[in-house]
Amino acid sequence: MTHSSQEPGKPVGKSAAVDPRQLDLFEFARSGRQAAGVVRISQLPRMLNEVPAEVPADERDTAFTWQAEGSTQPELQDDGTEGPQPYLRLAIHGAAWLECQRCLAPYEQAFNVDAIYRIVGTEAEAEEFPLDEDEVDVIVGSRQFDLIELIEEELLLSLPVVPKHDVCPQVHESLVSGVSGEDAGEHEDADEHSSAEAEKPNPFAALQGLKSKGPDGSGGSGGQH
Ligand SMILES: [Zn+2]
Repeated sequence: MTHSSQEPGKPVGKSAAVDPRQLDLFEFARSGRQAAGVVRISQLPRMLNEVPAEVPADERDTAFTWQAEGSTQPELQDDGTEGPQPYLRLAIHGAAWLECQRCLAPYEQAFNVDAIYRIVGTEAEAEEFPLDEDEVDVIVGSRQFDLIELIEEELLLSLPVVPKHDVCPQVHESLVSGVSGEDAGEHEDADEHSSAEAEKPNPFAALQGLKSKGPDGSGGSGGQH
């Protein structure tokens, strides 16, 4: 039975007929099955909560691709015999709009998860597992396991503690004026901050204005007054 999927006559692969909302996780691991799919953030209500309201409707529903792979490893079981211990590997890649805590504008945060889980039968078993093995998480398996919920759980755990741009598109005025001295400020503000600079009067432009209104400037553009 476990070899039926390898028969050349069968048109379907190992990943056929997998409902990620109702996965027999023990069987999935035992027979080394693989599955993959796409889940949109609109299917993940707790992740959707993190998306700022001002993100347009046609952009907010970002997608995550996922791949799951079951396996077993021979391990010592509770009864003292060596048996196949089920494992699940889960990879998730995608992006979500979050609110930058520095400039408060929405930005697209990338998510790249690659996790390995030891699958146990009961909550009690999960609590027995030593916590210092941080490479491997423990999940309680089920014959109707909701893989999408696990994906959402993993994405929530991957949320940045302080969501923010790598480099904010507009630096707040208080940060710009934090640069000491006017000379230093002029050098720093060449490119990125030009839009912010344009909103307030530029002291150097004012100086130039004074110069052009001087005795020599009256011949050039002095027709307005
Ligand atoms: Zn920002």
